[in-house]
Amino acid sequence: MTIHPVPGRSGPTVAVIGSGPSGCYTAHFLSKALPDAHICVFESLPVPYGLVRYGIAADHQGAKAVSQQFDRIFERGHATFVGNTRIGRDVSFEAVAQAFDVVVIATGMPEDRQLPIPQDESARIIGAGQVLRALNGFPARLGRHSAPLGAAIAPLGRDIAVVGHGNVALDTVRLLTKRPEELDGSDIDDHALRLLRTAPLRSVHLVGRSSADEAKFDLAMLRELCQVKGVRIRTENLHDSDPSAAADLLREFGQGDSIPDAAVHTEHPSAEEQLRTTVTIHFESIPVGIRYGSGMTGLDVKCRTSGSRKAFLVDSVITAIGFCQDSDQRAGTPNAAWSGVHVYRVGWVGNGAQGNLAANRKHAQSVARRILDDLARGSVVSGRTPGLPVILPQLKRVPTTFSAWRVIDEFEREQAGAGRCRRKMTDLVEMVALAQTSMADA
Ligand SMILES: Cc1cc2nc3c(=O)[nH]c(=O)nc-3n(C[C@H](O)[C@H](O)[C@H](O)COP(=O)(O)OP(=O)(O)OC[C@H]3O[C@@H](n4cnc5c(N)ncnc54)[C@H](O)[C@@H]3O)c2cc1C
Repeated sequence: MTIHPVPGRSGPTVAVIGSGPSGCYTAHFLSKALPDAHICVFESLPVPYGLVRYGIAADHQGAKAVSQQFDRIFERGHATFVGNTRIGRDVSFEAVAQAFDVVVIATGMPEDRQLPIPQDESARIIGAGQVLRALNGFPARLGRHSAPLGAAIAPLGRDIAVVGHGNVALDTVRLLTKRPEELDGSDIDDHALRLLRTAPLRSVHLVGRSSADEAKFDLAMLRELCQVKGVRIRTENLHDSDPSAAADLLREFGQGDSIPDAAVHTEHPSAEEQLRTTVTIHFESIPVGIRYGSGMTGLDVKCRTSGSRKAFLVDSVITAIGFCQDSDQRAGTPNAAWSGVHVYRVGWVGNGAQGNLAANRKHAQSVARRILDDLARGSVVSGRTPGLPVILPQLKRVPTTFSAWRVIDEFEREQAGAGRCRRKMTDLVEMVALAQTSMADA
């Protein structure tokens, strides 16, 4: 089966570039207001939904369930999914901009922001986005003989530091401190988890410049971390006078220095079982440098209020300080030339990697409104361009369809191991092959 635009529609042609939440929400709002529009959602990967599939934590299936809502957009023919098609690589942006009346860029922010401090090249530093992508089964492998998950996925060691006080930092710590059986019902990639965590973590230093009151994480996320079995929460620079709900929660769960560290480091199996990991949340602590020596990575921090300095000797540092545009400017990364009166940006690419699903929905709704206003005013002209039929013959790869995604979806659910809801395909070549077989059979 190949991709065909829905016949008999006379509305505007709309290209949405990127099938993450912001692209899908925009397609949804536009299709509701313009049932006659031809909306195509282009996606780099053979499968849809961006960070819903490869960012949101594997044990947060409730949040991931938004994909069922997005499925309906394509099932009902409100938009056409064109997967395995990276605009800027498989066809030029200029060709898409010429072929569609409206172009919506919804390509997200794919890369971890780097800490802007001196860093020893030998230090083990990895971005939280990369860790969560691996734990989410991102298809980094390209064929049977390539390295699984990319070279960066190597053991984190037993003592780690995580820089950042946002939800992504908490997701990372929670997933890395839970035991495999506590991840029941998730679609965690157990192979990646085993590669990253060869033994239970002993200590995690969660370091950030904010006070408990200012920290960006949600209270629910903090509570979830505090409730992981076998994890002891300690705090540094949590002030008795801090009136915030986060501070109250931490006072309830945080043990200060009352439990000696020896309780965690003991070799006694039952004690180890009871108390596997100490997570120390360091507030008001500014990272100033990362060193390396004798096989250990040293994270140097300075207290924001007292100016005192400390160093944490760890096996790895994970940075969770936000996301940015692809620094290599790979083909398909939007640049200044991706613009025009009929070109719009939505979601993380439009607002600088900020906000959750609800914020994306709101942003998509406002961008859809702007598009409708521009069409109504005539500053953007409808019916000017043919849309998908002129793009399909130009594509350098065979695109995947929405029905092919359903086949992959079903296959992954069937492959799920005990206690897991799916096992994602992590080999891009195999994924495309399955999609193409299913398309040939249809
Ligand atoms: C680790 C992590 C955990 C999160 N957890 C939660 C959570 O629990 N709850 C919550 O509400 N929010 C969560 N968020 C936030 C949420 O995921 C984002 O707000 C949302 O995904 C941003 O949507 P987007 O569409 O802008 O970008 P993305 O989701 O990144 O989607 C962009 C899509 O565009 C595609 N693309 C890129 N370039 C091209 C191109 N040139 N051509 C075609 N396609 C292209 C990409 O492959 C991708 O599929 C989390 C974010 C992260 C990073």
